[in-house]
Amino acid sequence: MSAPPIYLDFNATTPVDPAVLEAMLPFLRDRFGNPSSAHAYGRAAAEALARARAQVAALLEAAPEEVVFTSCATESINLAVKGIAFARRAQGRHLVLSAVEHPAAAEACAYLAREHGFEVTAVPVETDGRVDPARLLQAVRDDTALVTLIHAQNETGALQPVQEVGEALRARGVPFHVDASQSAGKVPLSVRALACDALSLAGHKLYAPKGVGALWVRKGLSLHPLLHGAPYEGGRRGGTANVPHAVALGAACELSVAWLGSDGPELQWAMRDRLQEALEAATGASLNGPEDARLPNTLNVSFPGVIGNELLEAAPEIAASTGSACHAGTHEPSGVLLAMGRAPEDALGAVRLSLGRSTTEEEMYVAAAALERSWKRLRR
Ligand code: PLP
Repeated sequence: MSAPPIYLDFNATTPVDPAVLEAMLPFLRDRFGNPSSAHAYGRAAAEALARARAQVAALLEAAPEEVVFTSCATESINLAVKGIAFARRAQGRHLVLSAVEHPAAAEACAYLAREHGFEVTAVPVETDGRVDPARLLQAVRDDTALVTLIHAQNETGALQPVQEVGEALRARGVPFHVDASQSAGKVPLSVRALACDALSLAGHKLYAPKGVGALWVRKGLSLHPLLHGAPYEGGRRGGTANVPHAVALGAACELSVAWLGSDGPELQWAMRDRLQEALEAATGASLNGPEDARLPNTLNVSFPGVIGNELLEAAPEIAASTGSACHAGTHEPSGVLLAMGRAPEDALGAVRLSLGRSTTEEEMYVAAAALERSWKRLRR
């Protein structure tokens, strides 16, 4: 049997860390209580939930009561975007976002425009995939109800200037939501430093299972719930808490704090750069995204003269992805790369390689060699 492919798609999802699985298992077995129950089973669940909330808050340098557990980042983002927009609609119905948001944010805004009379301004990005803060701030108006910005772009890893934007918006009293689904656990995050009002994250991007996310909401910010029901999560989300998954997210956040304090991110950055240099030298591949203001684990490169999807198909030694979609046999370039001004043929040649905490130097050599071989076979 051949070895499983080297996993280089950690921005799509991560495996569950064994320590995270260990932490959650008791809550799927004998510690199954409902955190609202007054007896010992309920109290054990409530205590675990409180601890998990504190662990998530610690990663974000936030207060535990500001953390709302959700089912995924998409839910967190929808709760932030719609919840804040609905709470603020008397003051204005204008929303601002960048042209490279994840569909979770872009579609939530599109829904508000379509069904609730909001106007949406999508601010273009520069050729490195970053938004110019001055350009974004120019789009903000007196009737702007919310600005939402992706912290780290999922395809390119580009880090947006959230702190600069946040400080300027705070001075103008405009609520600011940050989609930190890709940055959480990969770069340090402080909601105070970022000067934001709400921040979303996803468990399965930081070694917790799928099915859990969190939304941090600044104390005092009004937000309409999307799930109406019992007043759980401080009245911001009905529905009995998913205790095992919340515990998993808490444990994953604690592991992330330890990872960020270790030399792991720096070693990952160096490994990623060596892979980039090897691919550039061997194939003439060109970087999509900023050289420096980027997640340490992400490398998006366009290979000349090939289609990214075909390149990956011909390199079964690795599991990675492209931002392009394939419909009925025809390939469509990534909208994110097009928004950065890449030519369609260059965008079609793009491959995203995203490293994880377990990625090794040896895997980098194998991946570089596999991609070089595949490119030499396919190039036109
Ligand atoms: N935001 C960003 C930046 C993402 O990368 C993703 C997932 O890829 C999401 C939001 C949505 O996450 P989920 O599908 O887990 O809800």
